[in-house]
Amino acid sequence: MTGTVTNWAGNVTYSAGQLCRPGSVGELRALVARSAKARVLGSGHSFNAIADPGPGGVLLSLEGLPIEADVDTAARTVRVGGGVRYAELARRVHAHGLALPNMASLPHISVAGSVATGTHGSGVSNPPLAAAVREVELITADGAVERIGRGDPRFGGAVTSLGALGVVSALTLELEPAFEVEQHLFTELPLDGLDFEKVAAMAYSVSLFTDWRDPGFRQVWLKRRTDQPLGDFPWAAPAEVALHPVPGLPGDACTRQFGVPGPWHERLPHFRAEFTPSSGAEIQSEYLLPRSRALDALHAVDRIRGSVAPVLQTCEVRTVAADEQWLSPSHGRDTVALHFTWVDDTAAVLPAVRLLEEALDGFDARPHWGKVFTVPAAELRARYPRLDDFRALVHATDPDGKFTNAFVHDLLMD
Ligand SMILES: Cc1cc2nc3c(=O)[nH]c(=O)nc-3n(C[C@H](O)[C@H](O)[C@H](O)COP(=O)(O)OP(=O)(O)OC[C@H]3O[C@@H](n4cnc5c(N)ncnc54)[C@H](O)[C@@H]3O)c2cc1C
Repeated sequence: MTGTVTNWAGNVTYSAGQLCRPGSVGELRALVARSAKARVLGSGHSFNAIADPGPGGVLLSLEGLPIEADVDTAARTVRVGGGVRYAELARRVHAHGLALPNMASLPHISVAGSVATGTHGSGVSNPPLAAAVREVELITADGAVERIGRGDPRFGGAVTSLGALGVVSALTLELEPAFEVEQHLFTELPLDGLDFEKVAAMAYSVSLFTDWRDPGFRQVWLKRRTDQPLGDFPWAAPAEVALHPVPGLPGDACTRQFGVPGPWHERLPHFRAEFTPSSGAEIQSEYLLPRSRALDALHAVDRIRGSVAPVLQTCEVRTVAADEQWLSPSHGRDTVALHFTWVDDTAAVLPAVRLLEEALDGFDARPHWGKVFTVPAAELRARYPRLDDFRALVHATDPDGKFTNAFVHDLLMD
């Protein structure tokens, strides 16, 4: 490989021998068939080595493929290519008067890479983004194309697959009629006396932010669909200036606030497509645990905030509805997701990550597959009741392990 290739954050340098950018699906299939080890690099927004095929392996970028996002208005679906990012997909879907049910905090990420890691937005009734997928088109180890749709017994392992089954060349997603969203922001919500269930259900999508320098939340973001009611929010004061989730950063990098209605794809993400999302100099971790334990878990973090705050830029608390993907961190349970945007210094951050994992021990917390964690694979396995089914699916689909890298091997085979 000429030069080094790193992830978006720059905290991972891929050890792959080659970065290939095929210009057509035919070229991609041929490349897959003749490679001994391969993995796709999506938009590179994961914070660990999940995308790395390892030394000598081939890193496949799908960014040279024509952008495909074919909307079927009658069926209310879109067939989207394996390298397409949400920003482009959302623009095309919206032009047909349709919408995705939810989005992550940023539109910069690829659809296939996002659903592969269980990426989610927020909302007590909103499952992860993978729940919109109806069919996966997969280039398998021999270069053949296989379709796995809902109803196929393999479907539960096929979407949130960590990239271990093959190259996703396209996905078919379900859509709904376009809708509008308003963002209402509040400041200073105390942790003491917090009715988490009530606050989390106040709007279609709710996020709480804190830097843990004090107990309680500095910001509350309510994203209300304009076709749904918004109740009073008596627990905190309305924000008076545009806010950014990272204290001190300018609010104009964020989607429009102050209750101004706008299309779903310009309000559900926090960050605008044309700006650097988040702070840009950061490492992230996230833990997903049963929503019924949310308050206890927040108090557990509060007890160690003195150790967490010095290396933290912001912490976001969201909810995710249960889904059925076997490796989804919200598999089978309504979930609260505790997210941490750390400073850009791995050595300083790792002790805080370990401390946090100790504090959350006993909460059956599943780390986000695309972020930094140190929970040993043996412990992770126990947290996924369908892991054996996933392992069997990987063996059946890719018997020689062409797409099994160290990250997946540790999880499945140790
Ligand atoms: C600023 C920022 C904000 C974020 N916000 C959120 C958030 O709101 N919610 C959330 O849940 N996460 C969030 N994330 C994490 C992010 O959504 C995940 O890391 C996601 O996987 C990124 O997608 P990607 O395409 O960049 O993935 P990559 O890191 O490129 O790849 C992830 C995995 O998917 C595989 N893959 C990618 N494309 C394909 C394909 N076509 N076929 C087969 N395998 C493929 C890769 O091999 C790898 O294993 C955020 C990350 C950043 C940097």
